[in-house]
Amino acid sequence: MTHGTSSKLTRNIMIGMVSGLVLGCLLNLMGSNEFVQNIVIGGVFELGGRIFMASLKVLVVPLVFVSIVCGTSSLDDIKRLGRIGSKTMGLYILTTALAIGVAILVAVIVSPGAGFTMTAPSTYSAAATPPLLDVIANIFPSNPFKAMVDAEMLQIIVFAVLFGVALSLSGAPGKRISAFFNDLNEIILKMVMMLIGFAPYGVFCLLSKTFALQGFAAILPLAKYFFVVLGVLFFHAIFVYGSMLKIMSGLSPLTFFKKYKEVPMFAFSTASSNATLPVNLEVVEKKLGVSNSIASFAIPLGATVNMDGTAIMQGVATVFVAQVYNIPLGFTEYLMVILTATLASIGTAGVPGVGLVMLAMVFRQVNLPVEGIGLIIGVDRLLDMVRTAVNVTGDAVVSCIVAKTEGQLDMKVFEADN
Ligand code: ASP
Repeated sequence: MTHGTSSKLTRNIMIGMVSGLVLGCLLNLMGSNEFVQNIVIGGVFELGGRIFMASLKVLVVPLVFVSIVCGTSSLDDIKRLGRIGSKTMGLYILTTALAIGVAILVAVIVSPGAGFTMTAPSTYSAAATPPLLDVIANIFPSNPFKAMVDAEMLQIIVFAVLFGVALSLSGAPGKRISAFFNDLNEIILKMVMMLIGFAPYGVFCLLSKTFALQGFAAILPLAKYFFVVLGVLFFHAIFVYGSMLKIMSGLSPLTFFKKYKEVPMFAFSTASSNATLPVNLEVVEKKLGVSNSIASFAIPLGATVNMDGTAIMQGVATVFVAQVYNIPLGFTEYLMVILTATLASIGTAGVPGVGLVMLAMVFRQVNLPVEGIGLIIGVDRLLDMVRTAVNVTGDAVVSCIVAKTEGQLDMKVFEADN
């Protein structure tokens, strides 16, 4: 993508977002007009949005598989794979725990739930917490095709890494198949580029529909909760990620954010880390200069296990609901929240709304009423969009840090003006 087309695309996506947001809010204010509801919102925007989401998601499984096979088979030193893996995982867990810790701290200080008069909560049925044993066992696939059909990311990653390592150890046959996979990778990336071209329209449809259904009015009764989550999300994205980049890798946060901005826009519009995966991989490799062997592994892994934005919502929501129901939580409970939320984020995929399911697990752990989720559900869709943007940014930051410290980040690409 040349500089001109890239910035034109970014500009068009921005236009799609802003006009979708404005139109959606206007439609929401207009109230219930049958034509608008059924034909415009439920028809045109719904269809456009669904096609756009499907076109992003259709690439995820082939892209992740092929790209990881290429990445691992090009690693000449297998030991390095273990080091990169543990560094990436370590940073993911660290950032998630930090995110939720800060969120709890800020929420305790601001007390968003104090003085909140409870409205009758809608019921929310809780999902059971998966036992740790299951979380770990489920990472290992028993049938690679089933894993792909079900889009089980962690299982696909494990199989692809094994396959890639075997390729690199297989001599001449390995070389032949590697060349094939490298060609396939180019073709899939081409498909990504083709589909990204339609993003401005897709983003417009998604946002028009969401805001037409939500409107801004939903925020008012929960303004304090909403803005605490939003504040911590921005703090984490700008200050925590910015200083991590600077301190751990010496990279310029400004350059990072300038070149990365398209990806959070995708994440915001789709509210899905998984759907954003193809764009995230493309930008992290082609614009930030992270090598394929690191990006192909760290970005898909992050889309599943690293959800800092979601963790922030959970931290604030826990404190909020505890305050609303007047249930005192102590240090041990908060520690429990940090542990459960971090663990839950490892076992759940990045799709819209999954944060609430994970929140139900957290509530159960510390004996908070799960119905409390009914209180915050009204503003969750909007927060979901913002926290997904933070989730994907975290994956890219960690990929850059790991790549830079492993000598796998091309500074020429990172600093280039594209
Ligand atoms: N939508 C988020 C994601 O895909 C997950 C969540 O917080 O609900 O990353």
